[in-house]
Amino acid sequence: METLTKNVTILNHPVISHNLAIIRNKLTDTANFKQALKKISYALIYEAAKNIKTKTIEVETPLMKTNCEVFDDNSQLILAPILRAGLGFCEVATEILPFANVHHIGMYRNEETLEPVWYYDKIKKILSDKSLVQVIILDPMLATGNSANDAIKNFINKGVKEENIIFVSLISSPEGLSKVTSKYPKVKIITASLDEGLNSKGYILPGLGDAGDRIFNTIE
Ligand code: URA
Repeated sequence: METLTKNVTILNHPVISHNLAIIRNKLTDTANFKQALKKISYALIYEAAKNIKTKTIEVETPLMKTNCEVFDDNSQLILAPILRAGLGFCEVATEILPFANVHHIGMYRNEETLEPVWYYDKIKKILSDKSLVQVIILDPMLATGNSANDAIKNFINKGVKEENIIFVSLISSPEGLSKVTSKYPKVKIITASLDEGLNSKGYILPGLGDAGDRIFNTIE
């Protein structure tokens, strides 16, 4: 694990690099792509959940009583997959953190301006104690940083504290990382790779192509 700045973590592990190679390979089909993504997702989500609140309970093993740490029922956690590629992380995230609320964010990229266009934001207000709410935004590609910043702004406008927001990506570009960290320095970013840069269409190089197309088998 490499900590680039205080709030940016790049996971570094042979299991991750092996599965990233499968994911990057243009010959990998959707089934194998998703399987490799799932294996990396566990590491990313574990890291994102590192500071989830726990409480102590007593458990009886076959031999004796002991104290164990378990998820605190009062944790208020939102998982926010950015549609559609963010859904690629969602199965693992909800498996690991079953008590979380899932707040889908519908955004697509205007291919000319590279700016995000919103089409879905189901939850208009966060009703629980906003200062305690933690949000994990899920998007495999942190490319230009425009949709990441929009999604973060949306939660801050709803009352979530910047330091309680975590952005999880599979692959990040230096441009995207610096856009997010300069605007929202308190947001934690967890990623499996920092790639070389963006091409003129805002795709990450070397990257993996279009994450949504590869997850949902919609390559034309
Ligand atoms: N979105 C993708 O799916 N891939 C990229 O490289 C950049 C944005």
